[in-house]
Amino acid sequence: IGGMGSTDHGDALQVLQRVFGYPEFRGDQAAIVEHVIAGGDALVLMPTGGGKSLCYQVPALVRPGVGVVISPLIALMQDQVDALRALGVRAGFLNSSLSWDERRMVEAEFVNGELDLLYLAPERLTSDATLRLLEQGEIALFAIDEAHCVSQWGHDFRPDYLSLTHLHERWPKVPRIALTATATEATRKEILTRLELNEGRQFVSSFDRPNIQYRIVGKKEPKKQLLDLLRGEHQGDAGIVYCLSRASVEKTAEFLVANGIPALPYHAGLDSSVRQRNQARFLREDGLVMVATIAFGMGIDKPDVRFVAHLDLPKSVEGYYQETGRAGRDGLPSTAWLAYGLQDVVQQRKMIESSEGDLAFRRRSQAHLDAMLALCETVTCRRTRLLEYFNEPGGAPCGNCDTCLTPPESWDGTVAAQKVLSTVYRLRKERNQKFGAGQAIDILLGRKTAKIIQFDHDQLSTFGIGEDLSEGEWRGVVRQLLAQGLLAVEGEYSTLVLTEASSEVLGRKREVKMRKDPTPARSTTRTASS
Ligand code: ADP
Ligand code: ZN
Repeated sequence: IGGMGSTDHGDALQVLQRVFGYPEFRGDQAAIVEHVIAGGDALVLMPTGGGKSLCYQVPALVRPGVGVVISPLIALMQDQVDALRALGVRAGFLNSSLSWDERRMVEAEFVNGELDLLYLAPERLTSDATLRLLEQGEIALFAIDEAHCVSQWGHDFRPDYLSLTHLHERWPKVPRIALTATATEATRKEILTRLELNEGRQFVSSFDRPNIQYRIVGKKEPKKQLLDLLRGEHQGDAGIVYCLSRASVEKTAEFLVANGIPALPYHAGLDSSVRQRNQARFLREDGLVMVATIAFGMGIDKPDVRFVAHLDLPKSVEGYYQETGRAGRDGLPSTAWLAYGLQDVVQQRKMIESSEGDLAFRRRSQAHLDAMLALCETVTCRRTRLLEYFNEPGGAPCGNCDTCLTPPESWDGTVAAQKVLSTVYRLRKERNQKFGAGQAIDILLGRKTAKIIQFDHDQLSTFGIGEDLSEGEWRGVVRQLLAQGLLAVEGEYSTLVLTEASSEVLGRKREVKMRKDPTPARSTTRTASS
């Protein structure tokens, strides 16, 4: 569409239909597009798959000049630009992957007004050369994609985004539209102040993804549980499996392949050519399972991802929401499945405790984790909890999450909690010994293991007082005490330690409500191990 430069505001719908081939705008799109075309600033909160791109692409085509899009998704710029060019939109990008010649060509096109959209990596804006370049062309608007990256409170802070603060001073007349799929109240406020968007309008769409079924299960044999899920409900489906570490990505992918499920690994330790190839295959072919660290997925637009499975606990609700949001962009029923256990809590608490960050950083990480744990341990509707976290009134229980479908029972765990806490008290306070959850549970169960005998732990008054619960149930109790902050972990060996709140339980001043994990039906899946 060379020369689509007229400023007739009625053009928006025409552009949508002629260029993008869609009959009408969806949800808030029309209002947003109109507002930006008229020169207004905007903050757009829309869930993944909501249709954020058109909110800046259409105004960029209608307004005179080039729409400058700042995006951290460097790996995807080529694809995005190719897709736009296929529609006849004159698009280009500038990032570190270009050769000198390629860069000069895009720069010349920009200056000569031969582009409709220019995608930029955020670090470009920290260079004076880029700023001088931008001053030589006419800019239709600035679109700041993944705007939550500007927030230090958020879960995905990128220092380069701070340079976006200056856009407004340099180009006060150019409208800016910031877009994100994840923002709590705190993140939203920070985006507004950092980008000086306070004069702008906010467009907040509902964050509900009704076609996604949320399920969080107790972690027992995670790989096998995953295989049961895939074989039982998602045979032949495309999906994403998230793991915390590169090693577990590799192992899980191998395990799935050995069991006849076509799976590919993706993590930052793989060669970039391998990563690109795997990503391209996942997007193009049907029924592939991508096993990945969270390095994978931002900006991936694959409509028919039928499930997102987490084998490890996400660090925040924002991360969980964003990752699970990659399922079911086409609106068809999809599964968000997470396996979660005691070890996850121990590991994450420990990672935060031993992190390099300052006190404020650790507090923030704790708060993020606590919210995630509360979602895992809730006995009420997951969707309601999720929406409330994003300050949206959750409404009635959804009827389509695991807690709605099989309501977990809650039980009075005060006595069980006291048993665990007094065991920890005796180990730490009376004997000054450092032990983790395993030993505490062995003591409660009255097991005469070598390690129990060696440390005389069969002499403790709590030895054998927990035979009424199984080992799995005790792990559940310890997990929930950690989740509720009634117990903490410390040091290299994840020693259990008491918290201030522990004494309220020990002193019978506080009751502890616990969640009884529903026992899933026993599976009969045969697995090939690898
Ligand atoms: P987001 O960036 O919010 O995750 P996208 O902009 O990638 O979402 O859009 C998600 C999908 O919805 C894309 O396939 C897009 O083409 C489609 N889409 C967006 N707006 C419309 C619309 N008005 N009519 C039909 N399809 C749309
Ligand atoms: Zn529900």
